[in-house]
Amino acid sequence: MLKKGVGEGGLKAVMLPVAEAEALILQAVQPLGPEWVELGSAQGRVLSQTVYSPQDFPAHPTSSMDGYAVRHEDVQAGIPCELQVIETLPAGKAPTRELQPGQAVRLYTGSLLPSGADTVVMQEYTQQPSPGTVRLLQRPQRGQFVRPQGDFARQGDPLLPAGQALGGAELAVLAAIRQAMVPVFRQPRVALFSTGDELVPIQQVPGPGQVVDSNQYGLAALVKAAGGIPIQLGIVPDRLQVLRQVVQQALASADGVISSGGVSVGDFDLVEKVLEELGGEIFIRSVAIKPGKPLTVARFPNPHGPPKLYFGLPGNPASALVTFWRFLHPALRKMGGSLPPYWQILSAFSPVDLHADGQREHYLWGRLQVKPEGIQFQPAANLNSGNLISLAGCNALAVLPVGTTQIPAGSPVQVLQLP
Ligand code: AMP
Ligand code: MG
Repeated sequence: MLKKGVGEGGLKAVMLPVAEAEALILQAVQPLGPEWVELGSAQGRVLSQTVYSPQDFPAHPTSSMDGYAVRHEDVQAGIPCELQVIETLPAGKAPTRELQPGQAVRLYTGSLLPSGADTVVMQEYTQQPSPGTVRLLQRPQRGQFVRPQGDFARQGDPLLPAGQALGGAELAVLAAIRQAMVPVFRQPRVALFSTGDELVPIQQVPGPGQVVDSNQYGLAALVKAAGGIPIQLGIVPDRLQVLRQVVQQALASADGVISSGGVSVGDFDLVEKVLEELGGEIFIRSVAIKPGKPLTVARFPNPHGPPKLYFGLPGNPASALVTFWRFLHPALRKMGGSLPPYWQILSAFSPVDLHADGQREHYLWGRLQVKPEGIQFQPAANLNSGNLISLAGCNALAVLPVGTTQIPAGSPVQVLQLP
């Protein structure tokens, strides 16, 4: 097995370019199957089938104003003109009479238009000289304030495409067509654990050199934000036997697995060894990214469905979160049925020079702000892969490609907006 960085005999594990690693990961994941959920629990889910309109919208011609339904030809003669009011139609009441020459019907926003009528006159342009009579003060245009049947959608029109994420507007459309059960993609269930003898859970006061397992909480939140369901398995010590057991359990219980730590080149970095022992095909061992170089990804054959992916993230908090955002966020969104693009990429400028080593694609965390001069990216003060504190509050990652060592203040820089 090749070690990362410098391996035996001076060999080096291939450091994959970021775009290549992303492409390999996205090729390896597929949308999970569909399931049906109640409309009330469908928020944030992704439609698995295109939804077509079962009817015209509006279903009948309706008024878009409070006023009077008239026959346009009756008001051709001249203004003001008087018409006989034969009926009052609040919204929700069906017309009982057809409009004859010289007649009008009182109606309101959303009222059905009676047959015979083709135009609505706003009540602001009318008077009531006597009960049962309306006087029109302005000549309306034909069809004014009438929503024709099917104006918004026709029966059979696609209303929402497969892959559409469901927010308030989409749920309202589904309610309007009385879709009580909604076909959505299954959410990826993601087993999540942290490796490291130095780690302690948040309930425990850390001794000298011990580290609180913060990745568990950060990564669980990012899994949810990507549409997944985290299954938190806690902390696993750097011991082969225990690690092997947990990896097996994780693979059996979830659609994918994420661990943090244990993927570097140290003596206690055991993840790769366990993945190989268990028959995983490791197709990424190292990526030309900073932070996050030791990212490790393996594929496990799955007799019951598509292969399961194992993502071994580096343990350093910033490395773990940045590699999640860059590679796992799109992968989980694809598994959950979302359509690309999975990223918002903007062009911004930084008020200070941005630096990189030119060897790897650098991801600098910071804050985006809209300024009069354009979109500004302010990098965090202390960009160190172990610096969890400086990552908090950031909403963007600036990308400095391989070969770039500096982007001067004020020059354009590509920025990924964090989800
Ligand atoms: P590793 O990738 O296992 O070599 O871990 C690198 C460093 O990241 C460790 O020395 C820890 O300080 C830190 N670290 C690893 N796992 C976690 C975790 N789950 N939460 C917070 N920090 C961690
Ligand atoms: Mg470790």
